[in-house]
Amino acid sequence: MTRMPAFFVGHGSPMNAIEDNLYTRTWRSLAERIPRPEAILSFSAHWYTKGTRIIGQENQKTIHDMYGFPRKLYEVDYDTPGSPGLAKLSKELITRETTYDDSWGIDHGTWSVLVHMYPNRDIPVLQISIDAYAPPATHYKIGQELGALREKGVLLFGTGNVVHNLRLVDWNMAGEGFGWACEFDEHIYDCITKGKHDDVINYSRAGDAAELAVPAPDHFYPLLYVLGASDAGDKVSVYNKSGELGSLTMTSYLWE
Ligand code: ZN
Repeated sequence: MTRMPAFFVGHGSPMNAIEDNLYTRTWRSLAERIPRPEAILSFSAHWYTKGTRIIGQENQKTIHDMYGFPRKLYEVDYDTPGSPGLAKLSKELITRETTYDDSWGIDHGTWSVLVHMYPNRDIPVLQISIDAYAPPATHYKIGQELGALREKGVLLFGTGNVVHNLRLVDWNMAGEGFGWACEFDEHIYDCITKGKHDDVINYSRAGDAAELAVPAPDHFYPLLYVLGASDAGDKVSVYNKSGELGSLTMTSYLWE
């Protein structure tokens, strides 16, 4: 079986789900270029819980976990099958306690990107939650433990944003980032492309820029899972390296 890449995507605004722009075109062309996955295991910023949870059921729902957007966005469904088999295998690979939780489904962190990458909705998708109480190194370790799934045709898919500060969003800054946002994004880019994983895990050492860029780590942690699932033999490619609305960056990384 082809070894699958591991992908961290900066998902940005939920509106990307129903727009056609440079980001969404990148997602489409990327999906055409990489091998077709047997299944997708998604670490979404939007399933931020106490403890590590995994969806174990076959039939899952689309979660519209965003507020104040046009109705068209709430009509998007991404009803793919789940994968109880993959859930069980993932649970076995993760050494820390992981519990089944079918109260969640596929949230917009996942579907706003996958509607572009895999519009046919015929690939099983499974989400694992981000434990809000676990330190950065734990998220990285879970990624390492799940890295073996790449050999089984599973696309490990982290969806968040390297820089994500909603309080400081400036709607007049489409396609642009504030100085501190670009600085932190560039720092992480430098660490990733030079293989300095410890510096990504210890992102808070970057000081003031890190505090502004990652006021809460929910959107940053998905990167750590995918980084953990990468190995020294992978080549890393960078996509959508851009600031957005001032206080977000869309920078995405593919290891293959
Ligand atoms: Zn988000």
